[in-house]
Amino acid sequence: MFRLMRVWVLLLPIFISVPNAQAVLRFSNSYRSWRNKERPVRKSTSLIILHTTETTSPAALKKLRDNGECHYYVALDGLVYRVIDHRRVAFHAGRSMWNGRTNVDNFSVGIEVSGYHNKPLTSAQYRAVAELVGELKYIYKVTDRNVLSHCQVAYGAPNKWHKRSHRGRKRCGMNMTSTAVRKILNLRERALYDPDVRAGRLAVGDPHLAQVLYGSSGAGQKSLAYLTPQESNVISRNRNAWDIARDLYNAPTTLYIFPNGSRKQGHQVADFKLLPAGTKVVVTSSVDNPDESFKIVGQHGRAQDIAGAEVLADSTVYIFADGSYKRGNQLSAQQVLKLPYGTKVLVGYTVGGPVSASRLASTICGSRWRSKDTFFLISGSLVPGDEVDDTKIPAGTMIFFRK
Ligand SMILES: [Zn+2]
Repeated sequence: MFRLMRVWVLLLPIFISVPNAQAVLRFSNSYRSWRNKERPVRKSTSLIILHTTETTSPAALKKLRDNGECHYYVALDGLVYRVIDHRRVAFHAGRSMWNGRTNVDNFSVGIEVSGYHNKPLTSAQYRAVAELVGELKYIYKVTDRNVLSHCQVAYGAPNKWHKRSHRGRKRCGMNMTSTAVRKILNLRERALYDPDVRAGRLAVGDPHLAQVLYGSSGAGQKSLAYLTPQESNVISRNRNAWDIARDLYNAPTTLYIFPNGSRKQGHQVADFKLLPAGTKVVVTSSVDNPDESFKIVGQHGRAQDIAGAEVLADSTVYIFADGSYKRGNQLSAQQVLKLPYGTKVLVGYTVGGPVSASRLASTICGSRWRSKDTFFLISGSLVPGDEVDDTKIPAGTMIFFRK
């Protein structure tokens, strides 16, 4: 009896909201993701996250569906596609943190809007996003201040340019953060500062983004004038490969065209700091959250290049060729310098396990066990969560998942 009542309490707000929604919102179910069945219901929902797809190609919707990477997709004409059920976990935020809580996917709804972070939405999209966000705010009791853009919650692990974990991994959804646009979206309040930067958990990686988001006065911007549609893709003294390509700087899909006309793919560039001024960077992938795989000592530089200031942190995990592993805080500075070539490195990770009959992968790391960036240590190999055969995970297997 009690169980039944709880179900009704859960469903009621959704039914109530439908008549309002029909007035303006138009939904399509033609791109519902088959991954719904493998995604658990979230335990809580405190944030709504807005994204821009960085393309207007319909191929983006197909990819979002195939990977279950958003709850809703808002097309240029304002049609709203339901992709993942809004109560379930969608993998939309990637490496993320807000107010000290990591893996924002576990407590947020994600809306992908077709378009670019530095261009206005269409008027049909403004109406649709406003209505949709209004509905979700009502269902989950989310405050205006907790409607954020992806660029506000995404963060990057240390890399060649940033020695610390940093905000500014991407500018996704930046066009929906200004006071003027938020007014159109019916959002009266905004986050006035970055709680993770303020607390020292993250460094500022993109000063321009920080200025746009919080300004020096904290009052926010009044117009769309801050948008910079002509973001240069040419390397100069003030603009490096990371500024242009962000986390895709070393991806095979990113192309470097040198002043002399020769070309290299991202993974073929040996030293990004030596790229000559005038080199063009062509980012062809529009993946919102590039798969973060492990890095390898030797292949991707030294441990300190890969993990930066977090080289000795307990959240940096080193996996050795013999299948053993150590966390950064279990090694000395001397030992880290001497890590053998081929050592695999995961930055910003938690060690979970071992798997047993009574302690399944899902008990250890929740919905993330099926994620591409979760790794199972099986016979000395790191097997990604989306490739592991869940019927054949040996007892004793350790799992590395993002913090
Ligand atoms: Zn995004």
